[in-house]
Formats: sequence, C-alpha cells, structure tokens
Amino acid sequence: MALQLLEEHASKINPMKALKVLPDSVPIGRIKHFLEVGLQNNLNARRRTQVLKGLLYAEHLQVQEQRMHYESQSVLMTEFNICPVCKKRFGNQSAFARYPNGDIVHYSCQDRKG
Ligand SMILES: [Zn+2]
Repeated sequence: MALQLLEEHASKINPMKALKVLPDSVPIGRIKHFLEVGLQNNLNARRRTQVLKGLLYAEHLQVQEQRMHYESQSVLMTEFNICPVCKKRFGNQSAFARYPNGDIVHYSCQDRKG
C-alpha cells in the first residue's frame, strides 16, 4: 500500500525522505516511476530557479541604472532659495524635501504644499 501511495502521489512526496524510510528490500523497479517523477520535479524546480535568478539579476541592473541616474542629479541651494510654501529662506541646518518637479521646500512644509 505504501508503494502504491508513492506511485500515485509521486509529485507530492519528497524522494529523499521516502527513500530513507523505505526498507532496503524494495526492488528499485517497484519505485521507478516514483523516482522518475521526483527527479523530473527536481530538474523543473532547478530550471525555474535559474530563470528567476536571471530575471532578478536583470532587475538588479535596472535598479542600479536608475539609482545612478537619480544620484547624478544635483541641486544647488543658496541663501537666496525660498521655500514656496512658507516663503522663508532655508537656514544652514534646515532639512528640506525635493519634489519630482524640482521644487524644494522645508521638510516640515512638505505636507502643507497645496
Ligand atoms: Zn517652508
């Protein structure tokens, strides 16, 4: 009955665990199908993982490129910059936020921009 279960549910059973608990007296021909299915699943999983690895690496490269693009953009802040929200200047220690359109506001003013 155990062998029949192995044959019928081969794709759901871990071959290594099953082999450990099967008695040595089981002829290999009786579990041939089970072993083949297990091997095939293993190969499929490995191929999927390799494809995924390739895709993730491509994504990683794209993100790196984006990062370099954003880091290459610089902003010059002087004493003449004025916050468009509160109309005050930026002090030496002012934290600020930059909107995608280039506007620079005090960090504390960023949510008040309307
Ligand atoms: Zn402000």
